[in-house]
Amino acid sequence: MPETPAPAFYITTPIYYASERPHIGNAYCSVATDAIARYKKLRGYDVRFLTGTDEHGQKVERMAANRGVAPREYVDGIVAWTMKLWKLMDIDYDVFMRTTDGFHVEAVKKIFRKLYDQGDIYKGKYEGLYCTPCETFFTEKQLAGSKCPDCGREVELISEEAYFFRLSAYQERLMRHIEDNPRFIAPRSRQNEMVNNFLKPGLEDLCVSRTSFKWGVPVDFDPAHVVYVWVDALPNYITSLGYMSGDDSLLKRYWPADIHIVGKEIVRFHTIIWPAMLMALDLPLPKQVFGHGWLTVDGEKMSKSKGNVVDPWALTEKYGIDAVRYFLLREITFGADGDFSAGALVGRINSDLANDLGNLLSRTVGMIDRYFGGVLPAEQAGNPLDGEIRAFAAKTAESAGEAMDRLQPHAALAEIWNFVRRMNKYADETQPWVLVKDGGRKAELAGVMYTLAESLRIIAVLISPFMTRAPGKIRAQLNIPENNTDWDGASKFGLLPKEVKITKGEVIFPRIDVKTAAVPATVHDISKRPERGNDTRHPGSGNDISHPGSGNDTRHPGSGNDTCHPGSGNDTCHPGSGNDISHPERSEGSKILRSAQNDKNDVFEKNDKNDGFEMKDKNDGFDMKDKNDGFETKDKNYITIEDFAKVKLLLGKVLSCERMEGSDKLLKLHIDLGAGEKPRQIVSGIAKWYAPEEMAGKTVVVAANLKPAKLRGVMSEGMILAASDENGNLAVITADEKGVGIGAEVR
Ligand SMILES: [Zn+2]
Repeated sequence: MPETPAPAFYITTPIYYASERPHIGNAYCSVATDAIARYKKLRGYDVRFLTGTDEHGQKVERMAANRGVAPREYVDGIVAWTMKLWKLMDIDYDVFMRTTDGFHVEAVKKIFRKLYDQGDIYKGKYEGLYCTPCETFFTEKQLAGSKCPDCGREVELISEEAYFFRLSAYQERLMRHIEDNPRFIAPRSRQNEMVNNFLKPGLEDLCVSRTSFKWGVPVDFDPAHVVYVWVDALPNYITSLGYMSGDDSLLKRYWPADIHIVGKEIVRFHTIIWPAMLMALDLPLPKQVFGHGWLTVDGEKMSKSKGNVVDPWALTEKYGIDAVRYFLLREITFGADGDFSAGALVGRINSDLANDLGNLLSRTVGMIDRYFGGVLPAEQAGNPLDGEIRAFAAKTAESAGEAMDRLQPHAALAEIWNFVRRMNKYADETQPWVLVKDGGRKAELAGVMYTLAESLRIIAVLISPFMTRAPGKIRAQLNIPENNTDWDGASKFGLLPKEVKITKGEVIFPRIDVKTAAVPATVHDISKRPERGNDTRHPGSGNDISHPGSGNDTRHPGSGNDTCHPGSGNDTCHPGSGNDISHPERSEGSKILRSAQNDKNDVFEKNDKNDGFEMKDKNDGFDMKDKNDGFETKDKNYITIEDFAKVKLLLGKVLSCERMEGSDKLLKLHIDLGAGEKPRQIVSGIAKWYAPEEMAGKTVVVAANLKPAKLRGVMSEGMILAASDENGNLAVITADEKGVGIGAEVR
């Protein structure tokens, strides 16, 4: 019988814009894509995972000029840095695409000509209000009075020749495609945004060439023009498969892409412009475009001036690559915005990784060592709980898989951790430490230990899309063959040979002592970090092309460019596609294929003029860290008594309490706040520490004037105060209402 070939699965990150080095926000996108790709490989797919860099354009040209290097040299440095970061984060991509690669450049020329020949691209003129010093076009609305909103100078109406893509011609087909393919744009909210904000108001033709810079692919039949980013960068997904190369075997195998993972700010480019181009090229559209959210740090946008730009090197060095990947994938609902904080990371490490998974492994290995000298006997007896555990394991593999199929890594991890916790509970319920005292129950004890070891085999498989180191460490300690790694095997209980032999190893997830660890390891600027080691291929060290010297600061007030273009934030919003025509200059600043937050104008505050490379040269990075250890300043952040009085704290009585469906963390409480207030519904993340029945009847302290918020779709009107420590313990603050009564104010 001929073997059925593995089904193909083509997944991409955006190609990140090479004007700057990628950061943790880009890393987040790549880690999530990597987890999905790894999962698909475990399911037997022939996965092609593309990532890469978008390297042309005016901004790169300027950055290079400011540094006195050729653009190619500049982007080579960025690419080396990017590859190094992906290596650090264990991003197991198959293809690293560069838009400066010769085959891509040739294909882009052919695509442009084909679209021109068939009438989808035509030559026209655009007009706009232009500020010459800022080299930026503005709409009338954007002007400050009649002046440039950035520098306050006069603007002039100018007109220039350019090529346009007939985007408007594809409006109807795009609408129909989106209606007929409800999965095409995900999450759903992004689809509504595209339809309502862009398609319904009407698409205008798109400016696809430029004459104001040279760093790009020339239009071969009109070399004064350079192909603008849309037709240059977007087609990377097909040129990398050999489109226009004469060999379309890869294209046939992998196109259409199964998923383009993109940051939410570039969903429009991937769901409107790119599909229209594919329609014009008569190629099928990608099956899905998934727009993930943005990462904030400690609740704020990453900003160099705030000093909260996360340094992936410091972070992984301190906490380990697995912990960082786990945190990003578990903490943030994929698709929504998420927050990164050292506190939350350490919380996850100590509870999920150390307490739950690490503990399960070390107690299992420890007990097999102590009770059986390191090898389980073949003679093993069953336990009444075994049936339930087997079913739980099978259900976990299934539901985690379903979550991954829906692109919900956070939900998959939640399912897996339910199983991890179930197994710790199993160890408590079966009480091996009691069994061992009864010589007659040796076989039963061996059976319990086997069940624990087998559960760890399964867990090692299930976590392997997310964590790259722990699975191997688990297998090493339990001597599980390295080939025992496919997802299907995770749903079959009992694959581990009975005579489990252990090899004691290190604690896989040591607890983090918050007192020493909480120094915001979050937040050291990647750009200020000096290179470790002597890897000369990478920028950032002395030979870094992007750091020719601080002399640049005076010779090239190049950051002036940045000052004059803070407005590219506008490009993200793209209030109307009209922008594309009337502001090709501004669109240059837009983030066609840059993933979330890649563009500093996006992430960083407008006043971050010095977020460029200049800063780096002045500081070796470590200095900065030492000064910014955070504690001193934080401690001096006193609030006034008036500030404190803004919080309305009331004594409340818990009337009823129940678990929130679908959450292992949340309880829903109804709380009586006395005669002055209606009873409140409050959702609280205390389910790990309190059973619902335990909470009913308690007198608690409620922050009563907190803005109501929805948690998992349930309205929560306030907050219950609780105390927590660095070990992940938590205690709800209870009170004695005697003498004051429910509803009394706490102050
Ligand atoms: Zn200006």
